[in-house]
Parts: sequence; structure tokens; C-alpha cells
Amino acid sequence: MSLSVIDMVKGMFSTSTFPYKKVMIFFTLCDFAFETYIALRQYKVLQNKDKKLPHVLKGKIDEQKFKDSDNYGIAKAKFNFVSNTYDLFLTLYNLAANIQPKIWNYSILISSIVYSSIFQKSSSTFPQFSLLTQNILFFNFSVIFTNLLSLPVSYVQHFVLEEKFGFNKTTLKTWIMDTIKSNALIVLLGSPILYLLGWLLDKFSDNRNFVLYIWLFCLALQITMFLLSSTVIEPLFNKFTPLEEGELKTKIEDLAKECGFPLSDIFVIDGSKRSSHSNAYFSGLPFLKKRIVLFDTLIKDSSVDEVVAVLAHEIGHWKMNHTTKMLAISQIHFALFFKLFASTYKNFYLFKDLGFVVDPTQSQISHTGDVAVVQNFPFFVGLMLFGYLMKPTDSIHNFLFNLYSRHNEYEADEFAVKLGKGETLCDSLISLHVSNLSTVSVDPLFSKYHYTHPTLPERLGALENKITEQKKKN
Ligand SMILES: [Zn+2]
Repeated sequence: MSLSVIDMVKGMFSTSTFPYKKVMIFFTLCDFAFETYIALRQYKVLQNKDKKLPHVLKGKIDEQKFKDSDNYGIAKAKFNFVSNTYDLFLTLYNLAANIQPKIWNYSILISSIVYSSIFQKSSSTFPQFSLLTQNILFFNFSVIFTNLLSLPVSYVQHFVLEEKFGFNKTTLKTWIMDTIKSNALIVLLGSPILYLLGWLLDKFSDNRNFVLYIWLFCLALQITMFLLSSTVIEPLFNKFTPLEEGELKTKIEDLAKECGFPLSDIFVIDGSKRSSHSNAYFSGLPFLKKRIVLFDTLIKDSSVDEVVAVLAHEIGHWKMNHTTKMLAISQIHFALFFKLFASTYKNFYLFKDLGFVVDPTQSQISHTGDVAVVQNFPFFVGLMLFGYLMKPTDSIHNFLFNLYSRHNEYEADEFAVKLGKGETLCDSLISLHVSNLSTVSVDPLFSKYHYTHPTLPERLGALENKITEQKKKN
């Protein structure tokens, strides 16, 4: 990013008159209005009783399934509207009632009590030692607080919406255990990551090689997460069983050999424990051996050739280096984000307008009313505030990312066609859509904004064209 853009953003943010909180509220409302507008467009499409089944699906999906998928789409749209309104209310309340500064206050209070009792020292010697600790406590409290507030939405989604359409296979016990495990993971993994990030920001944010350091950090983090996700995180939530010997395994191994795919293992996971939606994916670092993971629901609902066709598509993603490219894009995105963040976040006015007080002339933490006055900029608070300010860029980023992701899906489909699996892939996509009740009727703006995959009619249309081209070539 050129220096002039950074200077411009810096200049804009560094004035005492800039109405940060009002701008954040404005962005939040705009975001809500835009999402509601496209959701309404989608709702109208779903409610239209005169619409016809797209021609590529004629004779392939029966009318009843088409209606069922619309009803599921309508129920999801209503649910999303309620949950978005709930989120909007929480965000506005959070900003208006200064909830985050209160959590920050408690983080300082608790860390100073713990410090005094462990080191038997007065908490007045605390500030220099503790900024990172306070930030990490703040992060953990904030995340747990936000996650607790999102529990009602998650409950309704699993036990009302998905239950009604027969997808929910989660028991209350599994749901509670999943919630506990995912929160524990955030605390256990998030804390050391933030510690390192905070240390980097503290030491190098003014250094000219900062982008390089932060990029190396993000790269190391992503590699670690890649390694941890298949070995530690996923097994916490699902049971991985090696695929038993038989026709399916042989055909997958043959396919991998044909494409030069570095296959290490094939696992089946008990996806049906939580939901009857079906899926397949591969995992593993770029340039190293990979494991293929199949949902038990996919194997149950599809023929052997259909599962193999789905995997031909997945291997297409590998062959075209989609994962590596996505990784590279996210690295660049992270580096730019942190560069801009590091150059702008030390801003008294931003903190003050949002209810946080930073005063470097203070020698120790003090309190005015119930507001803690600290002498250093708390980076995680800054990160959160910066995230709010950058919200409009999130929507643009999301839109571009989905555009690129859909492009990759077409490429992977084309790869499957080249392997002679186009027709079977069409069949398996249709049966996956039918069993997942995925919405077939989609408003174009809604799908462009929300969908990482092209819609079923779009994909089938493109696949048919490629199959015809391929037949002409042969
Ligand atoms: Zn794909």
C-alpha cells in the first residue's frame, strides 16, 4: 500500500473532531441496511409462486423437492433477518452503553489483583509488566461475552430451523460440548497468538521492516493452524475413521494416482452426528502429502462414482493451486491490514470517543469514575476499534473473495470434465443439492454477495458447455 494512502487515513483519523463513534454507528446501520436489502430481494425470489424450475434442472429435480428447497430458503431468510436484527441491537447497545470499556476495566482490575497476590507487590508497579496480559484478558473476556450472547441464535438455528427440515442431528449434549470446546480452543490458542502479535506490534510497529515481520508472523500462524486443524482441532469435534478397503477406496486411489495427487490417507468423519448435510474436502499443507476427508452422509447418499466425481472436483482445486493462491491472497490482505493498523491505531481521539482513556503522562493505572486510565495504547482494543472502522472494506473484500472463489469452482469443475467425470459430477451435484435442500432460486445480487460457489443451475450450465466442448475435441 502506498504511503500516501496510509498518510491520508492517518490524517483523517488524527483529528479531535472526527466523530468516530458516530461513524461506526453509521457504518453498522449501512451494513445492516445493505444486507437487509439484498435479503429482501432474495426473499421476493423465493416467495414468487409463478417461477419455473430452471431448464438445466428439468426432469432432474421433482417439483416437490423444488418447493421444499424454497420453503427451507424462506425459513433461513426469516431466521437470518431475526439474527441480523439481534446482532444489530447488540452492536448498537455495545457502542451506546460502552460495554467494551467496561470489559477492559475488569481486565485491568483482575490482572492487577492477580499480579499483586502472586508477586506480593503493589499494583502501582504493574503497568510496564502487564499491557500484554491485560490485552489478552480483555480479548478472552470479550470473546466469551460475545459468544455467550450468540448462544440463543445458535440454539434456534440448530434446534428449531434445522430440526424443522430434518437436518439437525445434534443432541443438546453435543451442542453444549461443542460450545465449551470451541470457547476453550479460542482461549488456549488465541492467547499465545495474541501475545506474540502484541509483542510484535509493541516492538516493531515503527520499524521499516514491519510489514515483512508481520507477514512472516501471519505465514507461520497459518502453517501452524493448518497443522493443528487436522491433527488437534478437527479430531476434537469429529471421529475420523480410515475408509475401509473396497471399490470406493480403490477408485479414489486410482484417481489420485492418475492426477499425481499426493494422497496420504482417506478418512470418513461422522458428519451425521451433527447434521445430515453432506460434504468432502482435502487438507494438508501445500507441497506436502494430503488427506482426503469424506462425510459419512456423502457416502450414504451417493453412488461410488458420484463420490469419485466430487473428489475429481476437489483434486481440481489442488491441481490449479487454489489453496496456495488463496493462502497468498490472505497473506497479502493480512500484511496490508496490519500495516495500516500499526500506522493508525495510536490515536487518543479514537480511543477516547469510544470510552477508553490513554494518558502517557500517567505513571500508573488510575480510575476516573469507572473508567480506567492507562499509559500505553492497548493494541487489542485498538485492533477491535480499527476493525469497526474498516467495516465497509470488509463487504468489498467479501464480495471480491466470493467472486474469486466462484471462479475457482468453475475451474475445478472443468478439471473434472477433462477427467471424463463431468456427467457423473452433474448427477452428484444434483443429488447433493436435493439432499441438502440447497436453494435453487437465487437473486443474482444475493448470490454474488453471499455465495462462495456458483448456484446449481449456473454450475450445471457451465458443466454442460464444457462437456459438449470436450466431446467435440475427442
Ligand atoms: Zn469446490
